[in-house]
Amino acid sequence: MFEGRLYIDGAFRESADKEGFEVRNPYTLAVIGEQAAAADQDLADAFDGATRAFDSWKRLTAYERAGYLRKLDQLMKTHERELAEIITLENGKPLGEALGEVRYAASYVTWYAEEGIRVMGEMIPEHLPHLRLKANRVPIGPTGIITPWNFPLAMFVRKMAPALAAGCTVVVKPAKATPLTAVKLFELIHEAGFPKGVCQLITGESKGIGEAMMAHKGIKKVSFTGSTAVGKALLRASGDTLKKLSLELGGHAPFIVFEDADLKKAVLGAVESKFRNCGQVCIATNRVLVQASVYEDFIEILESEVKKLTFGDGLTGVDMGPIINEAGYEKIVSHVEDALAKGARLITGGRGMRSRGEEGGFLFQPTILADVTPEMRITREETFGPVLPVMVFTEEQEAYDLANSTPYGLAAYAYSRDLSRSFRITESLDFGIIGINSGRISAAQAPFGGMKESGFGREGGRYGIEDYLVLKYTAIAID
Ligand code: NAP
Repeated sequence: MFEGRLYIDGAFRESADKEGFEVRNPYTLAVIGEQAAAADQDLADAFDGATRAFDSWKRLTAYERAGYLRKLDQLMKTHERELAEIITLENGKPLGEALGEVRYAASYVTWYAEEGIRVMGEMIPEHLPHLRLKANRVPIGPTGIITPWNFPLAMFVRKMAPALAAGCTVVVKPAKATPLTAVKLFELIHEAGFPKGVCQLITGESKGIGEAMMAHKGIKKVSFTGSTAVGKALLRASGDTLKKLSLELGGHAPFIVFEDADLKKAVLGAVESKFRNCGQVCIATNRVLVQASVYEDFIEILESEVKKLTFGDGLTGVDMGPIINEAGYEKIVSHVEDALAKGARLITGGRGMRSRGEEGGFLFQPTILADVTPEMRITREETFGPVLPVMVFTEEQEAYDLANSTPYGLAAYAYSRDLSRSFRITESLDFGIIGINSGRISAAQAPFGGMKESGFGREGGRYGIEDYLVLKYTAIAID
């Protein structure tokens, strides 16, 4: 049994009122841990502590801050197996994927340990002979970080690393379903010796934490990853204190297969982008659009690949784990039922089940639905499950129109061997991230983020640190 605590002002502690909540393994539904639920006093301590620590953290040299990040990076590598096992236990994803998540998260720490020392300012040409004008970029201030359960480590590390490198202190709030990975990471933060108050961990009831974070005057910036509905609520709440926000929200990724594509590669890309983490990924393919002349051929190859996928307990070498909870499972079932009732063709899968009779967690077969049409809910709402809907199109422009017909604008994929078309794809799709002939698109050095109702702000690369910096201009008169 894990006993997860809060981490405030350089020490682990129980909540002030001794309250906690259970953490369950989504495959067995067995309780695997008890996690502290922050009381009002803990929240005040966490936000006040981060506010106090900011003054000294921002005054360290970028090289000194990089030193702490390097230590953390090393510790994450040394403890990668332990971190991965906790991810699998509380999130359910296969252990190999969990290990991939730990390495992906660490790659952001590696990158930002380097990027922090490259935050440059500039001298601006003067308009009066005695003036000297300078612009430099300074840390925006104490930062609140709120992240979901689907990547229990990577989602918050991807924000925390650039924030710390920039000189901001952080208060991290992971999802209630998966707090234990964050606790383990904070043990490593403690071991790395970060100064008191620089990194704070709070867990508990999300609405109250969100309200306290948005209301606290010391917190200058909030970076959120999660649903569009909660992102919009945070944006509204930011008005009173005018916090700067970064919002990484939901998606509805189209995956276009043109007739000149390498069909086998397109199928493998679609499978990779859809079934990772059992489809519970913001950049997961939500709709496959296939040109009419290769439609049936594509479905045939897709069927043979999807039928190879195994699912079950993430600790046992399967390709897919469980659905995170019953609500997630019910949404998947309703999307499949709605599509079938409206005329979709079931190619494979389509059925859900419990892992241990009526007691166990929720599983869903890897599923392909063909002949899907825009009237079906699955073409508009995020399914967050292992269901691949396939639609047909005839003309190139029709594919772009279909692809863009969503309020979301996070990720899109397209397969084609035509060089000119590859430019038209990029120019036509209203998405922040586009994969051409690749189902794998995210990397520490590249900008990750959405357009439209998928939010704003970017994570990764030299772009990701900008969200934690503010420009300061100084005019100096000299004798
Ligand atoms: P969610 O309900 O919005 O939860 C995300 C986080 O916000 C969790 O920590 C949650 O805490 C917290 N939260 C919930 N209500 C809150 C409130 N009123 N105030 C403050 N915090 C609140 O999202 P989810 O359904 O768990 O996660 C899946 C969504 O995240 C999908 O839409 C997915 O596309 C999106 N996502 C986006 C990205 C990206 O980079 N764009 C990456 C991953 C996921 P509790 O869980 O404890 O309630």
